[in-house]
Amino acid sequence: MRPTYDADAESFREKIQAFLAEHLPPGWKGIGALEGEELQQFALEWRSILHQNGLLALGWLKEYGGGGLSRLEQVIVAEEFTKAGVPAGVANDVFGIQMLGNTLLQWGTEEQKRYYLPRILSREDIWCQGYSEPNAGSDLGNLGCRAVLDGDQWVINGQKIWTSSGHLANHIFLLTRTDPDAPKHKGITFLLVDMRQPGVEVRPIKMITGQSEFNEVFFTDAVCPKENVVGGVNNGWAVAMTLLGYERGEAAATGPLRFQSEMKRLLALAKERGANEDPRFRQRLARCYSEVEIMRWNGLRTLTKYLSGHQPGPDAAISKLYWSEYHRRVTELAMDILGPDGLVPTGRRPSSSFSADDEGAPNSTMSWADTFLNARAGTIYAGTSQIQRNILGEMVLGLPKEPKADGGSWAASQKAKA
Ligand SMILES: Cc1cc2nc3c(=O)[nH]c(=O)nc-3n(C[C@H](O)[C@H](O)[C@H](O)COP(=O)(O)OP(=O)(O)OC[C@H]3O[C@@H](n4cnc5c(N)ncnc54)[C@H](O)[C@@H]3O)c2cc1C
Repeated sequence: MRPTYDADAESFREKIQAFLAEHLPPGWKGIGALEGEELQQFALEWRSILHQNGLLALGWLKEYGGGGLSRLEQVIVAEEFTKAGVPAGVANDVFGIQMLGNTLLQWGTEEQKRYYLPRILSREDIWCQGYSEPNAGSDLGNLGCRAVLDGDQWVINGQKIWTSSGHLANHIFLLTRTDPDAPKHKGITFLLVDMRQPGVEVRPIKMITGQSEFNEVFFTDAVCPKENVVGGVNNGWAVAMTLLGYERGEAAATGPLRFQSEMKRLLALAKERGANEDPRFRQRLARCYSEVEIMRWNGLRTLTKYLSGHQPGPDAAISKLYWSEYHRRVTELAMDILGPDGLVPTGRRPSSSFSADDEGAPNSTMSWADTFLNARAGTIYAGTSQIQRNILGEMVLGLPKEPKADGGSWAASQKAKA
């Protein structure tokens, strides 16, 4: 593990710090100090500044509109942006840039790259992720959304669920069942689908916070062109796994920084409310503090491997499991410190439901109550804690594999369940 960066890296860091000093408004405290319209406006303007300066899709090749940065440079930009409390993009960029864009670079045809990548950056195409279904979450290979080739187009029928920011998107990347008679993981095709057609219906799901960030998406004879397949017909499982690596693996550098900053806010809250004098709270605060430190060292270990060329693999499960379980604990502690005030939350609402509240956010009851509720979802999305433990047991520790009840084709397994 290397806990320090070399001189070249540090001089690149200075360039990024100078870029931030030049482009951020005077007295900038972090995006957490903004809310409502002001926040939305800043986020969009900031995104276009990043785009103009080649800092939006950091790792993509320059010929596709990306930054063409090395892995180390990407990490440094992410660190400096996190410390400054500026976003790396807006809602849905995680699906368009991080997940689909990176996956197309690996699996897409030249034509697909030239057509889609610039449109992701310009926001002509705004993407969401159509993987999960009511009967296919942890067991994603069980998915049943059907696509049938009819002449020069695919005809799609079925349902997706938990589609984050689907109501803000105009395109969806979709896992579909194209060969029901093949074994479960073999008859799947990855399709690129325009949502602006009568056969696609998006229905928002109301969350416990009262907001709606994810959706059900229904397909009734929806269509997409024959050539909108990524990675080959019936080869969608391999493409899907590449994309999940980008979904799960990237936060090793920035996650600990966000949680360190959140810890500082929690300590301030504890002092404000006298909880720092209570030995029971002190014990829990010390535990959380230590866990963030462990996360930081573990992050550096992952980062060292990543910088030496290793792709995030099953060991990414360690950091996903650790941060998501930690985040439930630390937000429970915050709610206990707030006591009954936490039940009638007021103040600024976090701008995103993922991870900690933004840098610069006020220490409001709403900030903690909302983050507490959303932290429940952290142990579910991108693979539940139980699934991460299975991955660690089977693929990292080499323990015996979980017995599988179903074998044979997907169609046969559906008949057996009926
Ligand atoms: C906030 C949020 C955003 C999401 N966004 C998206 C999105 O944009 N697009 C998308 O496609 N999906 C999205 N998802 C869906 C997410 O990937 C699934 O919820 C997740 O994979 C779990 O699937 P499930 O909900 O069907 O639960 P299930 O798979 O039904 O699991 C139920 C319980 O059983 C346990 N379990 C299941 N199988 C095993 C096993 N083999 N061993 C041990 N325990 C097991 C699970 O751990 C869990 O506790 C999102 C989910 C959330 C919460």
